[in-house]
Amino acid sequence: MLSPENPNAFTRSPLDRAGHHRADATWLEAALNAENARLVPFYQHRPFVMEEGGAVAPGWLNGGAHKHFGAKRTLFLGLDAQRAPHFAFEVSDEAQFAGLGRFDDLRALGPRLAPDDLAMLGPAKSVFEWHAKNGYCANCGTESVIVEAGWRRDCPSCRTEHYPRVDPVCIMAPTFGNKVLLGRQKAWPRGMFSALAGFIEPGEAIEEAVARETLEEAGLVVTHVRMHSTQPWPFPHSLMIGVLCEVEHDRETVDTKELESCRWFTRAEARLLIEGKHGECWAPPPYAIAHQLLKTWAYE
Ligand SMILES: [Zn+2]
Repeated sequence: MLSPENPNAFTRSPLDRAGHHRADATWLEAALNAENARLVPFYQHRPFVMEEGGAVAPGWLNGGAHKHFGAKRTLFLGLDAQRAPHFAFEVSDEAQFAGLGRFDDLRALGPRLAPDDLAMLGPAKSVFEWHAKNGYCANCGTESVIVEAGWRRDCPSCRTEHYPRVDPVCIMAPTFGNKVLLGRQKAWPRGMFSALAGFIEPGEAIEEAVARETLEEAGLVVTHVRMHSTQPWPFPHSLMIGVLCEVEHDRETVDTKELESCRWFTRAEARLLIEGKHGECWAPPPYAIAHQLLKTWAYE
């Protein structure tokens, strides 16, 4: 069921990552200052955006902007279809952007940004957040240096190479016959229900993690696992692995440490959730993989 037409936000980037340029300092320097370069600033992990006529878009700046605004880090994002190099850069001072636009929270902005923009900003958000927390070698404690155009940190002392972290998370909608089980956490807005989810642990296959999490959170034994799609989720650096799974029976036992409650929804109800017409409950917006997962099942 995995298909090139991934339905999820933060996928289908218009950029070719062109990784072969990452180690070429001369090429990168020229690209950063090129006339056709596009650079988007970040401040405290928030992208710079501009708003016009009710539409919001990344505030792409011209080549050389990283120098003008005193970038502390740059990241090569890739080349667009016209081979224009795209970069993100981080600044320590937002005051100098006053009047040009604003730095805003990517998660809150998400539903308002175009799919292409989300797919370009997402990796920058994840990588910058990783740099901020990983300045020192985890092996020997020496301060590491950024290499590969922002995509790696190397330790000058013990030579360990450190790669940006990606945390795999399984997110699943357990089904039994014509019903799907959704859960809710206490902190969520009233009436919101979503798929179950949990981090995949070392030594676990995805389907094993799905079975373990479904058993832990809802007391249900998984009998069949079907992959749906995946989604890079840059909060801060997860990879959501969406799964539809069949369970043995519909007598759930909710782990109240993880969830406030679970509830079975019929296929007709699931369609109402997707369309925002359920009345009593609602599901996450299309921006979230949980929505796409539920939507696929609801209309099968
Ligand atoms: Zn080291």
